[in-house]
Amino acid sequence: MQLKLLWELQKVDLAIKDLEEKIEEAPAESGVDETTELVRQLREDYENRENQNKDDRKKLKNLEMKTQKLVDDRREVNDNMYNGTVTNVKELEQMHRRMDQLLSEKEKTEDEILLIMESLEEQDEELARLKSELDKAENELTEKEERLKVNLAEMNQTIVGLREERATRAEKVERKYMDKYVMLAEKNQGQAIAVVNEDLCGGCRVFISSGLRGHLYNPDAMVYCENCGRLLVKLDD
Ligand SMILES: [Zn+2]
Repeated sequence: MQLKLLWELQKVDLAIKDLEEKIEEAPAESGVDETTELVRQLREDYENRENQNKDDRKKLKNLEMKTQKLVDDRREVNDNMYNGTVTNVKELEQMHRRMDQLLSEKEKTEDEILLIMESLEEQDEELARLKSELDKAENELTEKEERLKVNLAEMNQTIVGLREERATRAEKVERKYMDKYVMLAEKNQGQAIAVVNEDLCGGCRVFISSGLRGHLYNPDAMVYCENCGRLLVKLDD
């Protein structure tokens, strides 16, 4: 009877041990850390590109203002050339050169504007792509965190129940059996007691000698496997 109690107790203890390991491994297994790191990287990348984008838009604005200024300057020189106030040929030639110079500067600036606009278009596409990737990763992270929370809550609830069951069962076990069980459990990774099945030790699968077998029919006799040292119990078929 005591051995059967111990056998049932061992099942509960092993279930508790198994669950304790699962609870400990749950955060790492959940993938929360990896996804947190992914979100961090994506966010950093997104922010860097967003800043670059802002800088380039500022540059574009300045170039557009510069173009406008060149157009205005050119119109002013043009007006002065044709309003009849300047008659000196040399001076008029100088004004012509100034007009050409302003034109070539304007064309150069417009080329720069085109390049920046093309780059901004690519940047906007890349930003949109990164944003959707970031959103996806953030959703994934929320899901994983939520799943982990639910899993841990369930496992913790189960383990509380198992510990209560353990306490109830342990109360029925006599001291000398309990001491033996605890000692053997420490030595055998929790597998203190083994069921005998078809004359084999359920712990190490080694044959039980005929000398020992006879004692197994005494339900309270403590019989140990000659090979692995586990306490043997013969359950009713
Ligand atoms: Zn054995």
